[in-house]
Amino acid sequence: MTVQTTDVLVIGSGFGGAIPAYYLAAGGARVTVLERGPRAAAADFTHSMRLGTYNKIVDVIQGDGVSVVAGNCVGGGSVVYFAASLRAPSFVFERHGSLGRRLWPAALTRAALDPWYDRVEEALPVTRTDWPDVSYAGGVLAAACRRAGHTCNPVPVAVDTSACTNCNWMLSGCRFDAKRSLLLNYLPAAEAHGADIRPLHEVQTVTPSPLSGHRYAVGYTVLDPDDYSCTSEAGVIHARVVVLAAGAVGTPVILQRSALLLGGIPAAVGRYFSGNGDRVSVADIVEDKARSLLGLSRPDGSAYQGLPVGRPITAATYDHLDPTAPEYSRFTLQQIYFPPLTNLLAQAAGSPAWFGVEKRNMRARWRSWLTLLAMTEDDNEGTFGVVPLTGGFTRLAPGLGQGTMTYRPTSRTRRAWDRADTALRDILEKDGLSRVRPWSEDVADTVTAHPLGSARIGDDPATSALTDGHELRGHSGLFVTDGAAVPTSLTVNPSLTIAALAERAVATIVTRAADTGVALRRDVPLPGR
Ligand SMILES: Cc1cc2nc3c(=O)[nH]c(=O)nc-3n(C[C@H](O)[C@H](O)[C@H](O)COP(=O)(O)OP(=O)(O)OC[C@H]3O[C@@H](n4cnc5c(N)ncnc54)[C@H](O)[C@@H]3O)c2cc1C
Repeated sequence: MTVQTTDVLVIGSGFGGAIPAYYLAAGGARVTVLERGPRAAAADFTHSMRLGTYNKIVDVIQGDGVSVVAGNCVGGGSVVYFAASLRAPSFVFERHGSLGRRLWPAALTRAALDPWYDRVEEALPVTRTDWPDVSYAGGVLAAACRRAGHTCNPVPVAVDTSACTNCNWMLSGCRFDAKRSLLLNYLPAAEAHGADIRPLHEVQTVTPSPLSGHRYAVGYTVLDPDDYSCTSEAGVIHARVVVLAAGAVGTPVILQRSALLLGGIPAAVGRYFSGNGDRVSVADIVEDKARSLLGLSRPDGSAYQGLPVGRPITAATYDHLDPTAPEYSRFTLQQIYFPPLTNLLAQAAGSPAWFGVEKRNMRARWRSWLTLLAMTEDDNEGTFGVVPLTGGFTRLAPGLGQGTMTYRPTSRTRRAWDRADTALRDILEKDGLSRVRPWSEDVADTVTAHPLGSARIGDDPATSALTDGHELRGHSGLFVTDGAAVPTSLTVNPSLTIAALAERAVATIVTRAADTGVALRRDVPLPGR
């Protein structure tokens, strides 16, 4: 077994891991990043969904009542995401949820987070898009919104639109380096300052270190690149400070597995999991109506069928984000794209809903499906159960795992979903433009690509595992900076908020590193500056 030491050990290389890795390395620390997935670059992205390629860098993790889609590679979700980059509205930071009191730390408001959002937007960078950047599918949503008396806007994205070829494959990694994933900013900048990023290293435990000056011993296994369920070697790295950023599904499991050896962990670890209130629907557009009502048309069969839908996320309406409205009634509606394998999305009306003649007829109309994502206010009702022997879940096949999450939507979450479904119908069924088919859990669980909240920050020790500074309560020098730390669903796509929180957390991590004798520069510029 290999035994090594480092100053700062970062677990996971998505937004929550890459950002602290950069600042700590640039500040002068020895930084090691352990990442479970493989490392890939532009030329490796095959732009196909063939087994053996896509399922090497993306995992679908099935729980009980919820399935999560997540990146599994150096760069984490940033490599496979759609790059919609939005700040959470102010009211989100004031949410009370079902606890009846403010969930976010007192110090954290939207205004307080704005300087950190500014930094991330500059570092990635994020591009403001305009109507010429909007796909036909986004245009349909925008025109329908306008007819129904709503506004709709192009969505800002972490994409260099001048380099984008509109190839529609950003889901499986951008071959043109137009998508500004973490492979193009924070991670190479961290490596330029000496950070050691190790792909295919899966962390299993974090335990107290017996080595003088080192607080934690991080145990890992090295995964076989051809079969992630096989391991080739194991090792331990002793670190002065540990930053856990294995994603909201990975982080709580590592902590739960380590709980006894750590002498206990806060009860809130592995509770309060949120799927960001995500709700996917399909509007089956009546093409004649699109022509007569919206004045929109396209060559026969050119959209939305299969892949050629244009850029994956281009337009959204923010009209349902009224800060004065009651909680569980606010949401964003966004045009989105899902690949052909998600044909189960649209539910046939009769029974059975997912096969049979009616379903076949629906599938024949696939080219007219407009896919939509509502991001609502859920109730953080997810919990994590019995810890698997290794890893974050039991691997069933490449790209597929059985997780330990249970999610039973409460009446409040269902109310939020119902409101979003009704709003979609008001917009897209007006005058027979389409038939909206909301997600049905009869066929598949709640599905989210936005896992959050399983080890969250807050002021109340009973309901938040982390302090305002992202430190695990009772465990000095052990930080969580990924989506797990986000206290509530956000009503928008979460990556920019996860990243801004990680930027904000760096100051506390640097202070803790200094306590263990690692003196660091604090005036580190943005990556690439
Ligand atoms: C298809 C898709 C589309 C999306 N589109 C958008 C979008 O348009 N806008 C948006 O804001 N968000 C989007 N998201 C969500 C976004 O990608 C995530 O919110 C974000 O990446 C979460 O950041 P994170 O740091 O919490 O975790 P991640 O980015 O998931 O990073 C966690 C990393 O930890 C690694 N890891 C896990 N367990 C271990 C372990 N035991 N040891 C070592 N490493 C481990 C994982 O492999 C992963 O690389 C999308 C996600 C997907 C899957």
